[in-house]
Amino acid sequence: MNCPNCGAPMLLAPNHDYYACTYCATHYFPQPSDDYVRMLAEPVGLACPLCHGALTTGSIEGTRVACCTRCRGVLVNRLVFGQVVAYLRSRAVKPAVAPRPVDLRQLQRTLHCPQCDQAMDVHPYYGPGNIVIDTCGACQLLWLDHGELASVIDAPGSDRRR
Ligand SMILES: [Zn+2]
Ligand SMILES: [Zn+2]
Ligand SMILES: [Zn+2]
Repeated sequence: MNCPNCGAPMLLAPNHDYYACTYCATHYFPQPSDDYVRMLAEPVGLACPLCHGALTTGSIEGTRVACCTRCRGVLVNRLVFGQVVAYLRSRAVKPAVAPRPVDLRQLQRTLHCPQCDQAMDVHPYYGPGNIVIDTCGACQLLWLDHGELASVIDAPGSDRRR
């Protein structure tokens, strides 16, 4: 498909169900977002590591995170992420969804940390969901693409409420 903003070709993001413009970074989401993140409008003074838009505050069950309203990614403290995942999985009400296999193409990209500008580490997440995450060890930050939090929360496992 072509970008509704500039007409350039849009590419399907690896292992994600959305398109990104190759030219102007417009993102197109064929389905409504169901990503456990409520997007708020307060700017946080950081740029999105993926699409370079301005990050704003977001809320995951009342826990403050930074998120991008353009590409719908989420920037979260590593420890907070662990707590949020444990909490949401223990209270899950939706049926579990088997995750897709890890897409190794995602390991090839390099994002830069919005806080310190160093290259982030990209590696498979060791918890549920088969996702690839980008992390900054110095800042204790973790970046999730749109849909990745849902993959983690919705993946089957004994820590998930039946
Ligand atoms: Zn475009
Ligand atoms: Zn973005
Ligand atoms: Zn950093």
